[in-house]
Amino acid sequence: MKKPPLLWLNILVFSITFAVAAIGTPLYIYFNGLSSALVITLIALFSWAGLSITAGYHRLWSHKTYDAHPVVRFVYALGGALALQNSVLHWASDHREHHKHVDHLDNDPYSISRGFWFAHIGWMLREYQEQRYEDYSNVKDLQKDPIVMWQHKHYLTLTLLMNIGLPLLIGLMVGEVLGALIIGGFLRLVLSHHTTFFINSLAHMWGKRPYTERNTARDNGILALLTFGEGYHNFHHIFAGDYRNGVRWYQYDPSKWLIGLLSWFGLATNLKRVNKFQIEKARLDMMWQRAQNKKAGFVERFEREYQHLTQQLKELNVKRKAWAQAKKEAIEDMAQVRELRAQYKSLKRSFRQQKRLFRRQLQIALA
Ligand SMILES: [Zn+2]
Ligand SMILES: [Zn+2]
Repeated sequence: MKKPPLLWLNILVFSITFAVAAIGTPLYIYFNGLSSALVITLIALFSWAGLSITAGYHRLWSHKTYDAHPVVRFVYALGGALALQNSVLHWASDHREHHKHVDHLDNDPYSISRGFWFAHIGWMLREYQEQRYEDYSNVKDLQKDPIVMWQHKHYLTLTLLMNIGLPLLIGLMVGEVLGALIIGGFLRLVLSHHTTFFINSLAHMWGKRPYTERNTARDNGILALLTFGEGYHNFHHIFAGDYRNGVRWYQYDPSKWLIGLLSWFGLATNLKRVNKFQIEKARLDMMWQRAQNKKAGFVERFEREYQHLTQQLKELNVKRKAWAQAKKEAIEDMAQVRELRAQYKSLKRSFRQQKRLFRRQLQIALA
């Protein structure tokens, strides 16, 4: 089969920026040393670009997991130009296809089924999905956002301003023009590119699948560290409507924290979370399914326990709603609220204990 034509602009951008960063950085540091001003520039611009992609392009625009103030959207739009990953409109359109057709050989724009290299960068080097450069029918909602359309229209100018103009300006301010261009411009861009690309490649290969095995997406704490929290990709693929990726409080997810902080200042609203019992149910089901796949005869031995836990989760959900509702309504009847709260808490304790026991039984039986 004939391969689609090469996209020379992309090839040149990726290879030139990589070469300048790989050769220029050590040479510059060897001759000039590395000032703290340049380190701060690198971290600041890397974070601006990265968070604009994760909290902006991804969780705000692609998945609509919250609403953001125009000032925030404007800052994300500039950061997205800095990240050089195409306009919001195009990125979100690709990304929605990725979720819709995840792992499909042809329809997932960066399908891991075609291997690491394709999912990481190969998909951008040839015109694999020609129609995708014209068809924005899956992002009609975003076309109503004037900031999205403004960025899309002026994308080239904005990328040049952000990737060359801004480092140049910083360089003039700190008296290290060449250093700011190499470290704040090229090195930062290459790091930002490849860490983001890891989400399409490594986060579909390396890590655990605690929520679902219906797709290749993995949860991986190391990748989360490199990508402002996007490494919890297994959770994300099953619950894409949640503004969090690292859903547990201790999971490293700076994008979630940023959105939380913005919401605290009133700059982000309508933050969407998936019902936590639904999340718990997914984990339980996965554990159950995995055990069944590993060993025959599991259903007969543990079915009752599994059904019991599932039932308890349902009750927990109902109880919690009742408690929340009572809290809202019965301001006078505090005794009832306290009672419901106590019931909920005790049910939750018992569920946790039984879940632990269930897991241990499965482990013993599997060993
Ligand atoms: Zn994915
Ligand atoms: Zn996504």
